[in-house]
Amino acid sequence: MEKHLLSKSTFIRGVQCLKSLYLNKKRPFLRDRLSPEQLKKFRRGHKVGALAQQLFPGGIDLRPRSPSQYRKKVLETAEVIRTSSYNTIYEATFQYDQLLILLDIFNKENGSWTAYEVKSSVKISETYLLDAAFQYYVISNLNPGLKDFFLIYVNKDYDFSQPLNPEELFIKESVLEQVKARQEFIREQVAREKETLLLEKSPPIEPGPHCTDPYPCDFIGHCWKNIPRDQWPQPQQSNEGFYDFLEKLEDSA
Ligand code: SF4
Repeated sequence: MEKHLLSKSTFIRGVQCLKSLYLNKKRPFLRDRLSPEQLKKFRRGHKVGALAQQLFPGGIDLRPRSPSQYRKKVLETAEVIRTSSYNTIYEATFQYDQLLILLDIFNKENGSWTAYEVKSSVKISETYLLDAAFQYYVISNLNPGLKDFFLIYVNKDYDFSQPLNPEELFIKESVLEQVKARQEFIREQVAREKETLLLEKSPPIEPGPHCTDPYPCDFIGHCWKNIPRDQWPQPQQSNEGFYDFLEKLEDSA
């Protein structure tokens, strides 16, 4: 198995900016340091993912502990699917055409596999649909029997005065039609990103509003260094109020 070229997160990075994709792969030392707030956000994302696993108890966790385990976990995922030794896989790992994904939950229901991706957000965004569409592209090319694809996200009206109940905390929504409608874009964008990674120099993309949309790019310090600091972009506040919500979640877990 060849080493992967793109993962779900690097694919989305490339959708936001091909220069960011290139620098991340070829010049990672130029990345800005993660702020304490960003580190906290990653930890919260993992916590929400672990809570969502309780919706599908009794599964096998195939999360790779390090990148050196990717190949092993791809083979283990294929083996569990082949033998049906478990009906639920957490962090099911797939690779197709040098594209690697770790799917949060892969669940067998009435003899067919369904994909679930967990988002630590209170709503579905276009970026989440593209993320899901990329995963669908990989899985469906390996596993044509994939029956459905759901996003799981947080119910903003959840009542925290009650004991934690994952069934009420999360909303499951099928996005199968939306991800199918994006398959042609995924195919074309994968080709664009692979071509970009073959370039000798980073693509000539000027900094602009896309540097924080949908995520603050971690090359802002590099690309914006000749622009006065008071003109640097500020992160989008698309999830306003959500951090308060997660603080409550941490207190109640
Ligand atoms: S800072 Fe902006 S232009 Fe530079 S890599 Fe990031 S998104 Fe692209």
